[in-house]
Amino acid sequence: MALWRKHGKFPAVRAAATGATAMGLPAVATAQAMGPSPGFLLQLVLFTIAVLLGWLLWRVRSDRLRQETALLGEIREREERLNLALWGSGDEFWDWNIRDDTLYRLGANQLLGQGSREELSTEDWRTQTIHPEDLPRVQKLLQEHIVGHTDVFESEHRVRNARGEWVWVRSRGKVVERDTSGSPLRMAGTARDVTVIRRAERERRVALEVLRSMSEAVAVIDLDFGFISVNPAFSRITGYSEEEVIGQNSRLLDSSQHSTEFYRRVRDVLERTGHWAGEMWQKRKDGEEFLGWIEMSEVRDPLGLRSHFVAVVNDITDKKRAEQELRYLANYDTLTGLPNRALLSERLGRAIVRARRQETRVAVLFLDLDRFKDINDSLGHAAGDRLLKAAATRLQATVGASDTVARLGGDEFTVVLEDVESIPAVERMAREILTAFSMPLEVDERHDVNITPSLGISLYPDHALVPTDLLKFSDTAMYQAKAEGRNTYQIYNETMDAESRRRATVLASLRKALDRGEFRLVYQPRMALADGRITGVEALLRWHSAELGEIPPTIFIPLAEESGLILSIGDWVLSEAMQTLKRWRGHGLNEISIGVNVSVLQLLRGNLPEQIRNLIRDLGVPANRIELEVTESMVMQNAEQTTHVLNELRKIGVSLAIDDFGTGYSSLVYLKRLPIDTLKIDKEFIGDLTRDPDDEAITATIITMGHSLGLNVIAEGVESEQQLGYLREQGCDEIQGFWLSPPLDSHRCLAFIRSWQPGTVAAIPAPY
Ligand code: C2E
Ligand code: CA
Ligand code: CA
Repeated sequence: MALWRKHGKFPAVRAAATGATAMGLPAVATAQAMGPSPGFLLQLVLFTIAVLLGWLLWRVRSDRLRQETALLGEIREREERLNLALWGSGDEFWDWNIRDDTLYRLGANQLLGQGSREELSTEDWRTQTIHPEDLPRVQKLLQEHIVGHTDVFESEHRVRNARGEWVWVRSRGKVVERDTSGSPLRMAGTARDVTVIRRAERERRVALEVLRSMSEAVAVIDLDFGFISVNPAFSRITGYSEEEVIGQNSRLLDSSQHSTEFYRRVRDVLERTGHWAGEMWQKRKDGEEFLGWIEMSEVRDPLGLRSHFVAVVNDITDKKRAEQELRYLANYDTLTGLPNRALLSERLGRAIVRARRQETRVAVLFLDLDRFKDINDSLGHAAGDRLLKAAATRLQATVGASDTVARLGGDEFTVVLEDVESIPAVERMAREILTAFSMPLEVDERHDVNITPSLGISLYPDHALVPTDLLKFSDTAMYQAKAEGRNTYQIYNETMDAESRRRATVLASLRKALDRGEFRLVYQPRMALADGRITGVEALLRWHSAELGEIPPTIFIPLAEESGLILSIGDWVLSEAMQTLKRWRGHGLNEISIGVNVSVLQLLRGNLPEQIRNLIRDLGVPANRIELEVTESMVMQNAEQTTHVLNELRKIGVSLAIDDFGTGYSSLVYLKRLPIDTLKIDKEFIGDLTRDPDDEAITATIITMGHSLGLNVIAEGVESEQQLGYLREQGCDEIQGFWLSPPLDSHRCLAFIRSWQPGTVAAIPAPY
């Protein structure tokens, strides 16, 4: 029964051996004490019998001993074999004597440690061997088996191994002996350490779960490139269900975007190296193609032989698209679709390299839209954007598709012209651009806007050798074009740098001028030709800068307009002029009007009518003695927005004059629509009267036209008798200019007016 019992457990064998020795010794001692007599013979016979008996006994005993030893050896050998078998299988054999409450365990080194045997009480097993958390479950399973609910007892639980660590075992066993009443006496079975298996299983489950939840498509492919299994993402991405692809060749996904040669090469590399990674177009079930980032690797079996390939496919179509979009965003202006500064610099760089090789020139044209900000502010940004788009289209159309047109931001554009033969050729292009912009740009179905550009030009290799300098110099030249009166071009020269630095200095001082009280107004009288009366004055702004001295308005007014400073300066001018008017009226000059120059920005800001209403109310001056002068080009360019403000002003009762008439786009249609009273013929035409027949014709036409519209016509810049004579002949209403008087400070002007006698020819004092 108990194969594994120790030798000590066989008391019968031991007793037999010791018994023999104890009985043998007294027998010998008795024989030696007797002499040779009949009694002796008997004794001898008896002795011999005794010896024989003893020998026999000994024989019997030693035979039994030999048999038992052999048996024991056999037992030991069997036990050894069992041990070896258990050791080899890694299993533990256990035997539970239910009645004795003992558990005997054998084998399984990893569980029981070296020696691999253990006997313990059921209680010890309960308290020390099994994991307390698993005990209730195991006990329940044992119980179920013992009462006959299960054929075998089977459980997975944790036990402490020889090193005291918890390991998972899978234990199986059954009742092997019952008493007559059927109560179990013994249970036996095996247990195996399954820690590693369980871990591997868990890992496999996790891996499977990961595979299932992966966003990348994963396919297992056999060595002939047939699908073995795929994950859900694979089905999602390709449109093929697992059943549809299993057994199919992976060629199924090949796209027409690659040649068969390409796929052959990929499979070649994979077969040779066991790995391939790269971008590949693939075809979905619905025929749509997608770009995949694909990684294929071989899988080797435990013998190290290649058994499968695993392909992981990432759909990067969107990513690629986003990348391309980013690349586009990095290089192109989204509003106009033109190259941006980055791409421009790159192209300019390449153009320079080509020009150096071919010994040609490259021209950079820097274009800035004149007063774009005003339009943007008044029309709104959406319209501003449309205007920029229209400007971009027009510019590109003028320049042609082969030359680069870029938008640098805001209303700044750049044109790069290659293979430039000569400077006149570039100037020709600049003029073409200016001409192209003389046609209005369509902002929407209802709005056309006139906007002019100012252009600055720099040339490689004449002015600079690198893109950054070329761009900088063309920018400088553009500012010079603005300073020259806009809607024109300038070619860069070195003096411009000094000029732009000077402008920066002037602007810095200009910002402080108002606070420092550096402005003052001078007044230039004007006279009616019909009766020689002084009808009014024009207020003209003067600035004496503490740092820079006297700066003419032709310099600082454009700067003030560009920087927006004109708004606060304009406010000051209006209020100062109204106060002068009030003072003069106090001196009895009730018939005198005062003309104030107003910048278009002031009109566009929209609160000019209110401001004037306030001044009129506060100072008590009559509206009809106030005349606002706005330049023709400004009003024409922003006709839609300014008309409204001009109408408002008209309602208040102030009169409106168009200044510098003849220099802009004299559109009679607009002129008719505008609520104006007066035209001031630009001094440019007056200066050449009696010398230039064209100017005479223009002046005559303006006078006639103005009268036909019921307007008062004033000629400014009248310096000579001859000019005066011509104007009188043409029926001009009023004149203004050095012939009559230069601009004067308010006291002198007041004195001049009061002393004025119609018919007096004024002496010409030094101008202010
Ligand atoms: P503008 O309105 O056309 O002013 C007339 C300019 O011609 C004045 O130049 C005046 O001094 C000058 N002038 C007057 N008589 C003669 C003459 O017989 N011959 C010549 N050659 N010139 C004459 P100024 O004062 O230098 O003003 C230049 C421009 O600055 C003005 O041109 C006007 O557009 C602007 N400006 C002046 N003051 C203001 C102001 O307060 N606000 C605004 N927005 N602009 C102003
Ligand atoms: Ca004026
Ligand atoms: Ca003028």
